[in-house]
Amino acid sequence: MTAKKMQESFSKAFIDEVHKWSCLKPTGVSLRYMMEFGSKPTEKNLLLSAQFLQKELPIRIARRAVELESLPYGLSNKPAVLKVRDWYLDSFRDVRCFPEIKDASDELDFTEMIKMIKVRHNNVVPMMALGVNQLKKDLDPKIVPEDLDEIHEFLDRFYMSRIGIRMLIGQHVALHDPNPQPDRVGYIHSKMSPMEVARGASEDARSICSREYGTSPEVNIYGDPNFTFPYVPKHLHLMVFELVKNSLRAVQEKFMDSDKVAPPVRIIVADGIEDVTIKISDEGGGIPRSGLPRIFTYLYTTASNPLDEQTDFASNDVMTMAGYGYGLPISRLYAQYFGGDLQIISMEGYGTDAYLHLSRLGDSQETLP
Ligand code: ADP
Ligand code: MG
Repeated sequence: MTAKKMQESFSKAFIDEVHKWSCLKPTGVSLRYMMEFGSKPTEKNLLLSAQFLQKELPIRIARRAVELESLPYGLSNKPAVLKVRDWYLDSFRDVRCFPEIKDASDELDFTEMIKMIKVRHNNVVPMMALGVNQLKKDLDPKIVPEDLDEIHEFLDRFYMSRIGIRMLIGQHVALHDPNPQPDRVGYIHSKMSPMEVARGASEDARSICSREYGTSPEVNIYGDPNFTFPYVPKHLHLMVFELVKNSLRAVQEKFMDSDKVAPPVRIIVADGIEDVTIKISDEGGGIPRSGLPRIFTYLYTTASNPLDEQTDFASNDVMTMAGYGYGLPISRLYAQYFGGDLQIISMEGYGTDAYLHLSRLGDSQETLP
């Protein structure tokens, strides 16, 4: 969309309002609060939750929309980025134009509306990736990845915020589920078994690996199968899936042409007082130390970029083995979102250990950019 067309669809008064909201401070919510609040999805609580979202979502959305306007190296003007910005502006308008939520029927309508917003933003990550990739192609080759720190920091804030917005919407929507599974409060599983989630994620990663290479190394998981703690299984699944995919790829590439049997990837789950730590170890040869500073950036991958061959990715689910360079930075954001972290330790020539720390108490607030 051209700049002129943008002005036509969003009036100056509207853009001014977006700027005004972007200056307000977002309110973080803790995992524990979401769990306690959501365990009593009474009509009154649903109403309170919707009223909170009607104030909170425009703040979070506006902050991102405004930031999308002033990105360095002309990233803001890439068609893909303009499209993402329009999605944010449309969603801001949807929430702001919704009348005051007074009763259960308003609340249901509001819930339908935010559900639509979540769908509208489904493809934000690949769309932004496309924009960044367009930028990468026209950049002066003299600009080295380190010069793009500003863009990486922006993307970290942007995707972190997106995780939070989707968590809040998803949580509110899920509280309407008439038959919730036991121990589920929206997205949160109050008795999540990390071993079980790790097993599911590993199986998914192995099947992608088999599809890509025809075979896949084994994944062995060690830990206490009865141990559970409150967490968001979807988030943990995504993180372990990305990490195991990386390990499988490294092991597969190293042992593909050798007559040795590929060593299994090992996952160890440890339950501490503060943290639950999940270590994913492989013997895939590691990462050279010179490459380590870049593995958490959004442009670094050693796989060929699937976006280069396929620009029409809207129809393509981003389910390839590797190539976007997004697995590690996005996984780290999910870990940090509820107060955890992700570290990668490599022994070049041998293998890599990924340490996924998840905050156990759930008291930490959402990390808000
Ligand atoms: P992608 O997998 O799409 O390339 P990631 O962010 O998941 O993006 O990983 C970035 C890069 O880090 C990979 O391309 C690879 O070079 C390196 N890497 C990550 N994990 C491992 C690992 N376990 N062993 C070896 N290299 C790894
Ligand atoms: Mg990866």
